[in-house]
Amino acid sequence: MKRLLVLALAATALLAQAQTYPGSKSVNFVVPFAAGGPTDRVARDLAESMRKAMPGSNFVVENVNGAGGTIGATKVAKANPDGHTLLVWHIGMAATAGLYRKLQYKPLEDFEYLGMINDVPMTLIGKPQLPANTYRDFENYIRANSGKLNIAHAGLGSASHLCGLMWQSAVNAKDAMTTIPFSGTAPAMTALIGGQVDVMCDQTTNTTQQIEAGRVKAFAVTTKDRMSGHKLLKDYPSLNEMGLKGFNLTIWHGLYAPKGTPPAILKQLNDALKVALKDPEFVKRQEGLGAVVVNDNRVSPEGHKAFVTGEIAKLKPAIEASGKFAD
Ligand code: ASP
Repeated sequence: MKRLLVLALAATALLAQAQTYPGSKSVNFVVPFAAGGPTDRVARDLAESMRKAMPGSNFVVENVNGAGGTIGATKVAKANPDGHTLLVWHIGMAATAGLYRKLQYKPLEDFEYLGMINDVPMTLIGKPQLPANTYRDFENYIRANSGKLNIAHAGLGSASHLCGLMWQSAVNAKDAMTTIPFSGTAPAMTALIGGQVDVMCDQTTNTTQQIEAGRVKAFAVTTKDRMSGHKLLKDYPSLNEMGLKGFNLTIWHGLYAPKGTPPAILKQLNDALKVALKDPEFVKRQEGLGAVVVNDNRVSPEGHKAFVTGEIAKLKPAIEASGKFAD
């Protein structure tokens, strides 16, 4: 009897929490990279649209950088599961599972999956001083200067790191460049523009405006086919088209809560996410930067989790083939 009463009280407390959620307390989007980069960008755009989808709410972005996104992910995995600390991350959720020997969270067990947000192509870019102007010249230049150049990325397991590994492996030039880790690709971009690093592969949401302004040189996109629908990026070949048969890497971003977040709060967040992803302003901003906003079953907890499970299996062999691991 006493046990039943305790259970009933606990259920009432959970219901009350869900009914008042989010209340006056802000909802933090933890971005595991520096401000100004692609993950930060999508999180800030999404925060705006989530705010509109949940009137009275306040979504705030918190940058918790370091270790390829794993520090921020660990923070969310261990956070109070009350719906006020969420993670906006990307393909790193799957890549770090294959890249790191030890992680302080289990990607498929320690999070509640809320849904996928977008899918973003990448671009292979170089500092403005690089002598190459076409992809072919770029590849030849890297080979001719093997061991002398460096490639910036956002830490082991980041999208930029993954892309650099896969590209060097696909052109049989493993270790052609020294990798230089940054806390995100926003500071890496500053170093590239300034000529302190030579090469980077990053999401179009960070590179499009810099390419357009001529601050960096672009050589190729990582989608299987050319991005023929994009006004600027359509001019660059895909790596697949340039002979790297089957090369096809796009970076999905998703939204996650700590395991144990009450189902009613998860439902509220997922409902709001679905509305936010249809916000014309969100869609316009994202599409202008080359991203594709997701509008299918992957915006559901089960659909996104099934997708990430597949991504972990798909990425593992590619990561192993590239021969790089992190502790
Ligand atoms: N684009 C970065 C990456 O390589 C992350 C970021 O700064 O958003 O994963």
